[in-house]
Amino acid sequence: MKAEELKLLELLDFQPEEGLIRFKDRRMLIFDADALGLLRKELIECLGPEGARGVLTRFGYANGYRDALTSKELFDWENDREWWFAGPAMHTMEGKLKANPQKVIFDKERGEFRVEAFWERSYEAEQHLLHIGKSEIPVCWTLVGYASGHATACFGEEVYFVEKRCVGMGDDRCEIIAQTAKAWGEEIKPHLRYFQSVKMQEELSHLTQELEKKKRELAKQRRELLRLRREAYLDIPPDLVAKSPGMRKLLDTAARLAGVDTTVLITGESGTGKERVARFIHERSPRSKGSFVALNCGALPEQLLDSELFGHRKGSFTGATEDRKGLFEAARGGTLFLDEVGETSPATQVKLLRALQEREIRPLGQDTTVKVNVRVIAASNQDLSALVKEKRFRTDLYYRLKVVVLEVPPLRDRREDILPLARLFVEKFCADLKREFCTLDSESLDLLLAYPWPGNVRELENAIERAVVLTDDCRMTSVDLPPEVRGEALSSDLLSVGKVLPLREMERRYILSVLERNQGNRAQTARDLQIGYNTLWRKLGKPEGQEDSKNG
Ligand SMILES: [Zn+2]
Repeated sequence: MKAEELKLLELLDFQPEEGLIRFKDRRMLIFDADALGLLRKELIECLGPEGARGVLTRFGYANGYRDALTSKELFDWENDREWWFAGPAMHTMEGKLKANPQKVIFDKERGEFRVEAFWERSYEAEQHLLHIGKSEIPVCWTLVGYASGHATACFGEEVYFVEKRCVGMGDDRCEIIAQTAKAWGEEIKPHLRYFQSVKMQEELSHLTQELEKKKRELAKQRRELLRLRREAYLDIPPDLVAKSPGMRKLLDTAARLAGVDTTVLITGESGTGKERVARFIHERSPRSKGSFVALNCGALPEQLLDSELFGHRKGSFTGATEDRKGLFEAARGGTLFLDEVGETSPATQVKLLRALQEREIRPLGQDTTVKVNVRVIAASNQDLSALVKEKRFRTDLYYRLKVVVLEVPPLRDRREDILPLARLFVEKFCADLKREFCTLDSESLDLLLAYPWPGNVRELENAIERAVVLTDDCRMTSVDLPPEVRGEALSSDLLSVGKVLPLREMERRYILSVLERNQGNRAQTARDLQIGYNTLWRKLGKPEGQEDSKNG
C-alpha cells in the first residue's frame, strides 16, 4: 500500500449514538482547536514557556510514535518509505497542518534520512498567535514532536525535526528540516531537552537555576546603574582629579558623608590633598553656605593654637591686647578643618574633646563657656593609633575623631591620576604666569609616571610649577623637571660633595634630606625609609636614650 491511498473517512468508524469514533480499534476524539490553544496557554502560565514546550513536544512525540506503530500493524506498506509517508498524510488528514515535503531522502541502508518540508496552516502556530501572541522562537512544538516520534519509529533510528521558520514568529509559513541525531551532531543538542522526559522536580530545579542566573544578571545591572547614578551624582570638581579607582571610591564615600553631620578623620601621607577632600565634603554638606576654616595645628605653639582655636579675652596672656574670637566661633554654621591634629598638646586635646562632645568652648581668660555649632574634620599624616600607644594622643579624643576615617591614597597608588593632575597644574601655572598653554614632552610624561612621588600631589604641583617657570618656550622637556624626578638627585649630590664620604655619613645625609622633604615628620620618614623609629634616630647619630619629648 502507498501512503497516498490512505482515505481517513474510510478508515474512521463513526458510532455517534454510542459516543464513539474509531480508527480501526483506536478511539479518536474530535475537539475544538481552541480548547488545545487554551490548554497551551494554561501550560505556559503554569510551567513557563520552557516547561510547556517540553510537555507539548513529548505529547506530540508519543502520539507520532504510536501512530507509526499502529499504521504498521494495520496496513501492508509497500516499503518503509511509504510507511513513513503515512505520517505527513495523517497529519494533514487530521487537520493539523498541510504538509508539503520538498525533499525526502529515506535510505535505511546508508542510514540517511533527510526531509525538508513546508508546513502550511499549522493549527498550533495559529493557536499560539491567538492566545499567547507572536513568539521569538518557533512554536509548533506538538507537531515537531509528532513528526520526530513518527519518523523515529519508521526509520528505526533517532530522527529529529527542527523548525527553522514558523508562522508563530510572523513568518509566512513554517519550514522544517529533519535528519538523524547523528547527522545533526552538535546542532541538535539544545533541542534534545524538550524531547527527553524530565521529572517535574528536575524541571523545577532547572527553572530555579535559570531564575538564579537571571537574578544575578539583574543584580549586576542594578549595581552598574547605581554606580552610574552615583558617578553622575558625584560630579567631581575639576581640581579634584579622580581617575583612579582608589580616589573614586574615596570621593564616593566622602560625598555620602557630606550629608551626615559627623566628625570625620582624614588620614594619608603629607601632600596627598587631605584639606581638598575636607573642602569637598564641606562644599556638598548642608553647611556649605557657612565658611570653611582650615588650621594647621602643627604650625603653632600651644598657647597661640589655643587662642587661635578657642579665642581669648583681652589681657589673658602677654600680647592679648584685645578680645578675640577663635576659629570655633568664626566657623559657626560651617566646617572647621584641623590639620595635623596629632601635633596638639595634651592640654589642647582636652579642650578639643570638650568642644566635640559638649559642643561648647571656653575662650582663654573667660569664665563662661560659649556654645559652638561647627562640624569638625580633622586630619593627620601620622598614625594616631601609634601616638595613642605612645601616650602622646588621648584615647578618648582618638575614638571621638575616628568615627569615620577616610584614607587619602598616596599618589604612587593612584597612578592614573598623575598625568591628569600634571596637566591641571600646567594649566593653572600657565594661567598664573599669564603664559600660553604649555605642554610636556613624552619623555617628561614617562618620568612623571615612573617617579614614586614621596611628597605626593604637593610635590607634583611644585615640580610642575618649577617646570613652567623654567621652560623657555611652551614645550617643557625633562630638563625642566627637578633632578630627583629625573633620577639624578643622589648622583648629583654625590658629585657635588667632591670627596669620598664615609657610608655612614652619606646615609645620615640621605636620611636628613628625606626628613626635610617630609617637613620634619619623623614617623613618616621612618615609614618612607622602611626602618623603625628608633633606628632612624640611631642612624641620625643621636643616642637612643636622648629622644626628647617634643618628638613630632
Ligand atoms: Zn510553526
